[in-house]
Amino acid sequence: MVSVRLMQGLTGGEASPRYVALREIRGEEELADLSPAALVEKLVVADGSAPLDALSLSDQDRLLEEVYRNLYGAEVGCHAVCVACGKAFEMSFSLDDWIRSLVADDDPGVRSVGDGTFDLPQQDGLERVRFRLPTEVDVARAAAGDEAEAARALRSLCVLEGDSEDPRLDAAMARVGPLLDDEIEAECAHCGASQTVAFRLADYLLASLRRERPLVLREVHCLARSYHWSRPDILSMPRSFRREHVRLVLAETEQGDRSWL
Ligand SMILES: [Zn+2]
Repeated sequence: MVSVRLMQGLTGGEASPRYVALREIRGEEELADLSPAALVEKLVVADGSAPLDALSLSDQDRLLEEVYRNLYGAEVGCHAVCVACGKAFEMSFSLDDWIRSLVADDDPGVRSVGDGTFDLPQQDGLERVRFRLPTEVDVARAAAGDEAEAARALRSLCVLEGDSEDPRLDAAMARVGPLLDDEIEAECAHCGASQTVAFRLADYLLASLRRERPLVLREVHCLARSYHWSRPDILSMPRSFRREHVRLVLAETEQGDRSWL
């Protein structure tokens, strides 16, 4: 289990940071077609420190980032198809550098209040605004109407005090609650064409898990055959526990093989 500090730590000077405990992923999640929100819901250990329905979309991305780091480390390596020559090329980058680049540079003076809400100060004729970050429920509630209407509805749901049309609001929200979803500048390794590639960490994590499914199935098969554990039992084990036992079985098999020589 890991304890994850939620995103607004990036702004610094926070009164009381919020933490969420995550448990390790299990085979049943590795093999299921879960949405990012459903995966977070499965992995969050309910200890009351930050209620699940209060997690913002940015919190959700932050938690999935932690899941990604625990499984695959701090680097991302993915393939994109070049818009100019049509060939696949590889791009890789560090999660830390990328996330730093997502936090808006211009600081509109936003400060965390400490209970998941934020303050924009009274400034240049603009009044003080207190807001929180949007959650999945907010986005669903605001979704009616066109994009501009939905954005307006979302802001009015999230602003707790002050003007929900304050011009500083979008930059403030992006600063304290960046979403790990971006257009990344890349250069094709074959023809050198510059282009932007859409990258969302949550989707990339789910795709990485999908790619590993054949391996998970082989591990289930290996353990079922060796220990006679049932499939549901194996799939409800933490991933590291399952893998450790697969390694034991393989080590023994290799030893057995060598004894034949
Ligand atoms: Zn190209």
